[in-house]
Amino acid sequence: SVLADQIAAGEVVERPASVVKELVENAVDAHSTQIDITVEEAGLQRISVVDDGDGIADEDAEMAFKRHATSKITNRRDLFRIKSLGFRGEALPSIASVADVTLTTSTGSVGTLIHNVGGIIKEHTAAEARKGTTVTVKDLFGNVPARLKYLKSPATELARITDIVNRLALSYPNIAFSLVHNGRELTRTAGRGDLQQVIAGIYGVQNARKMVAINGQNQDFQVKGYVSLPELTRASRQYISLLLNGRYIHNFQLSKALVAGYGSKLMVGRYPVAVLDITMDPLLVDVNVHPTKQEVRISQEPELTKLIQETV
Ligand code: ADP
Ligand code: MG
Repeated sequence: SVLADQIAAGEVVERPASVVKELVENAVDAHSTQIDITVEEAGLQRISVVDDGDGIADEDAEMAFKRHATSKITNRRDLFRIKSLGFRGEALPSIASVADVTLTTSTGSVGTLIHNVGGIIKEHTAAEARKGTTVTVKDLFGNVPARLKYLKSPATELARITDIVNRLALSYPNIAFSLVHNGRELTRTAGRGDLQQVIAGIYGVQNARKMVAINGQNQDFQVKGYVSLPELTRASRQYISLLLNGRYIHNFQLSKALVAGYGSKLMVGRYPVAVLDITMDPLLVDVNVHPTKQEVRISQEPELTKLIQETV
């Protein structure tokens, strides 16, 4: 029901950045090589994600708006083994229940357009047949004004969008990403698999030159990535990105280890720009139940923090 979708939306769609995250993750799951994100007024007016992925067959397109209809996972441990990011089958229905959503999609032959307003399908027609999917979300939270009150300033909401796009771009260097806000390009990556180019596309070419490659391993873990030279530090930790088996994660102990290894104690309040990709046996990862599934626990964490600190 629409009400159940709206309740689920409370968990999945907190703010414009969550919409961007879910739509881009779907595009990644669909094997896209290019993902273009356009945002107006920090996402409250419009969010549009265009991909060149697999598309959805016309007969499956309405199902995509049904909650749990697409759930693919039974075991939490599967999370880090499966390739796809989606597993709950509730992002699209949740978003549609609190917005005006137009989905245009094609697997390459015929194309489909579905217009869903507040969780109800208003239109299902033929559309252009370019392979891929475009999802446009307008008037987010227009029908649940209470949610709008929880949002921060447009600048803060936009920063969250930028943050999530940049993290996804870092996680998928083989996919070309672009992010445009109110006509201004904020991020553009080439999708050629070169992490240093991705860093340049996000933090600028000058900054990318100040990044040093690091690499370390022990029996259970490999850590590799880039850490900025001391001349490129920032006033917050938010420029530290951790990837675990190629996926973006949050883990305070691990970023603390990176900062400790960097010697930030000597530079009070300064933190490096860093991208660290950790490779490990998926069985050693304990994925937290939080629906955004970015908060992870790792057995042998002390061993890993030691490796990170020493490598940096
Ligand atoms: P989940 O990603 O958890 O499966 P979603 O609600 O995010 O659930 O998406 C529902 C379904 O719609 C997906 O499983 C997928 O089959 C389809 N879908 C959504 N977005 C896209 C896209 N950009 N390209 C291809 N298929 C998509
Ligand atoms: Mg999804």
